[in-house]
Amino acid sequence: MTATAGKVLHFINGEYTAGTGARTFENRSPVDGSLISVVHEASKADVDAAVTAARAALKGPWGRMTQEERSAILHKVADGITKRFDEFLAAECADTGKPRSLASHIDIPRGAANFKIFADLVKNVATECFEMATPDGKGAINYSKRGPRGVIAVISPWNLPLLLMTWKVGPALACGNTVVVKPSEETPTTTALLGAVMNEAGVPPGVFNVVHGFGPNSAGEFLTTNPGVDGITFTGETRTGEAIMKAGAVGVRPVSFELGGKNPAVVFADCDMDKAIEGTMRSVFANCGQVCLGTERVYVQRPIFDEFVARLKAGAEGLKLGRPEDKDTNLGPLISQEHRSKVLSYYKKAVEDGATVVTGGGVPDMGGDLANGSWVQPTIWTGLSEDSAVIREEIFGPCCHIRPFDTEEEAIELANDTPYGLAAAVWTENLARAHRVAGQMEAGIVWVNSWFLRDLRTPFGGSKQSGIGREGGVHGLEFYTELKNVCIKL
Ligand code: NAD
Repeated sequence: MTATAGKVLHFINGEYTAGTGARTFENRSPVDGSLISVVHEASKADVDAAVTAARAALKGPWGRMTQEERSAILHKVADGITKRFDEFLAAECADTGKPRSLASHIDIPRGAANFKIFADLVKNVATECFEMATPDGKGAINYSKRGPRGVIAVISPWNLPLLLMTWKVGPALACGNTVVVKPSEETPTTTALLGAVMNEAGVPPGVFNVVHGFGPNSAGEFLTTNPGVDGITFTGETRTGEAIMKAGAVGVRPVSFELGGKNPAVVFADCDMDKAIEGTMRSVFANCGQVCLGTERVYVQRPIFDEFVARLKAGAEGLKLGRPEDKDTNLGPLISQEHRSKVLSYYKKAVEDGATVVTGGGVPDMGGDLANGSWVQPTIWTGLSEDSAVIREEIFGPCCHIRPFDTEEEAIELANDTPYGLAAAVWTENLARAHRVAGQMEAGIVWVNSWFLRDLRTPFGGSKQSGIGREGGVHGLEFYTELKNVCIKL
């Protein structure tokens, strides 16, 4: 029993289990509020059992395998996701309400790709070697060797559940670690399904474990405070990261954090307007604005400001809100009623702070069953001052504010005036300007004339309050491995 039977279970030591906890919680559809499944909430004893299984598995067959053997198994995991593509797709769309067209192109294929890329990459990573002189003239050789860090706690969010969870589990396992995953309480199903895929692929029991529940005083806290955990990788809100960092401080466990953002797009008058509109439409509204890399602040050079606002408005008003399975749906609901209340509080605040509502600003009339879903209108504002909470804080909804600027220097200053530093987009056809501005953006990821274009070998992460460390390519190895120096006297 995983999720399809209407119950979502933990996956501990290679087996699905309801655990020892008596508590369950409901997983409801953001589309129409209907009940999807009942999820078992892990007790402290369940989390302890998962960590114990993961520790034991480090010393079992997984720990004795060669890199080639582990990589071959991870390829089978990727193939297993692809084989069950429809099951994963249905589960992800049910939990999140996102359009099938989006999840089938991004979430599920990337979930599989995350295992292949790291399986191949880790096999081919070289380490350093230094020869040194010694007083006796015979010398010594130093070489470094990478080994797994140990048991990794993976805490993942709800916006891209399978994609972001496997983005951590893939490299963690490729490096020989074992994991205990705590998926978001909003989206437990695809992580639960992955347990069966792991078994089919031949991943030994205890290497991949899943516990369900919430953060404080629940599975999240039980996991991050468990002394058997050697490192914590987390994607989610900056405030949650602060709480997890405190938990990690006990026992001096390292953390890897991908946190929130308040990402700017800077659109220069010399841009290709069609491309800038198309890219900004995606970066503001994709996944109903629930993308950490999404744009919530748009700065447009004054000569093209009016045209840009008019065209983005037309684009937003052309978006079709609807059920995930409807072919013409561009936009789903927000993840939950709770998140909708948060987003709507910013819609209200924008008006209180004197914004001009260019479009949207409220709740759409969806009718029928959908009236019980967490829908909001795609929204664009102008006219806010930069100190408004709407400009300062991450909203995580289908909305943006557009402000005019005059000079390149002004645009850079406005874009960087934020405590966050995850991503930025720059739209210009001037090559020198593209390099100049990209170099000055205080962000871990800068896109020029594109958005969400990702080569999985490149570093991924944020500066300032948007994260600690980099995932992607060889960069994640800093967290997922321990580097040891061996010095041999000749
Ligand atoms: P969240 O911080 O509320 O929750 C994330 C996970 O942390 C969930 O599994 C939750 O149960 C768990 N959690 C909460 N409190 C905890 C605690 N005290 N101890 C241990 N675990 C705890 O985030 P969310 O609402 O699920 O996701 C949205 C946020 O994630 C946004 O801020 C978004 O920007 C961010 N995000 C960042 C990236 C990135 O790559 N930088 C990617 C996606 C999402």
